[in-house]
Amino acid sequence: MYDLIIVGGGIVGLTILKEAIQNSIKVLLIDAQEVGKSTSYAAAGMLAPINELEHGEEDLLFAGIKSVPFYLEYEKILGDIGLNRNGTLEVALTAQDAQYLKREFEYRKNLGLNVQWFNKNELLEKEPFLSPNLYGGIYSDSEWQVDNRLLLKRLKSWALEHDAEIIEYQKIMDWKFHKTHLSVSSINQTWDTQNLVFSMGFVPEELFPLPYVVYPIKGQMLSVKPNEKLLQLEHVIRFKTRTLGNGYIVPKLDRIILGATNEEMGNDKNITAGGIMDILRKCYAAVPTIYDLEILEIWVGLRPSTHDRHPFILKAHQKNVFYMNGFYRNGFCLSPLFAKNFIKLLKNQELDFEVKNFVKYL
Ligand SMILES: Cc1cc2nc3c(=O)[nH]c(=O)nc-3n(C[C@H](O)[C@H](O)[C@H](O)COP(=O)(O)OP(=O)(O)OC[C@H]3O[C@@H](n4cnc5c(N)ncnc54)[C@H](O)[C@@H]3O)c2cc1C
Repeated sequence: MYDLIIVGGGIVGLTILKEAIQNSIKVLLIDAQEVGKSTSYAAAGMLAPINELEHGEEDLLFAGIKSVPFYLEYEKILGDIGLNRNGTLEVALTAQDAQYLKREFEYRKNLGLNVQWFNKNELLEKEPFLSPNLYGGIYSDSEWQVDNRLLLKRLKSWALEHDAEIIEYQKIMDWKFHKTHLSVSSINQTWDTQNLVFSMGFVPEELFPLPYVVYPIKGQMLSVKPNEKLLQLEHVIRFKTRTLGNGYIVPKLDRIILGATNEEMGNDKNITAGGIMDILRKCYAAVPTIYDLEILEIWVGLRPSTHDRHPFILKAHQKNVFYMNGFYRNGFCLSPLFAKNFIKLLKNQELDFEVKNFVKYL
């Protein structure tokens, strides 16, 4: 009998697993495929509560600001996770974008955020490979990134080293409430537990009915091979453009990620010429030398989104059944804080005030 079974080993399930181990909870994580190979694998690993901020989403901002520094603790216990603290430059590609970005800058300043406005020359001093045609931009030094794929790998191996149980390639089809405990079943096995959390990201309703709506937002991305002669980047580069749409360039040690589309296409995971063309066009406008870089990989992921784009921890009253989902474009940014608070909820402890409003009850 386990104290806790986690169904789903993306970043959400794996961060819960880490916290459970650190709280001496007897825990089992079950995944339908290899752990960490779903949407979390497809992400860019930006920890960007400020750059992801939309007006009216200040609750997400403050949750993100509280969550991101936990990665220092992650780095300490897991070792190298590709944590890069150089910060993020959000650049204006046109005069119109600059007007928009300046308003965003004022808005962020008024919220007390640590942001600086850089003119073109200051931007080029920070990142010489940026296009000389830019119109200025915002620098945020607290917007970090991790290597999402490395982090997922490290979380899994750290958990196994700490005697956690992980079962892969077992799709959970059903769960039951018994008098004294709960059970979950795959096609040929059943496991008993006192508490159960579903952290399955997006799953089509016909495959696993759930008591909430989480729908997929498709993100196409690609990576190019670093080549120091053609491109050196220290920071994450982002842009929100009126003409070309939003995008980013995220330098990792072994790849440079160019992203991403944001499409409402249901369960469709096709990679399209138009999607990749859009990404390349805007990234090329910001950093022209990507033109000659070798393409490494092209992929697609489905961001699990709720109608209001807010994540949640949902507790089924009295039944010790929880759901943690809806992390949309912020799974890496928010998971450390939410996982800590999930354990607090499990132990009936006081929740952090930044998370309270994201906790719902059935
Ligand atoms: C293109 C793109 C870029 C992104 N960039 C960023 C970024 O820079 N920063 C950021 O913070 N976020 C980013 N995100 C968002 C982030 O990736 C997601 O919010 C996050 O990965 C969601 O994690 P999850 O654990 O909920 O889901 P997943 O990673 O999908 O994990 C769910 C797991 O549950 C398992 N599962 C499902 N059904 C079952 C079942 N029946 N039985 C057993 N297991 C099951 C799956 O196999 C899977 O392993 C990005 C997303 C995309 C698509």
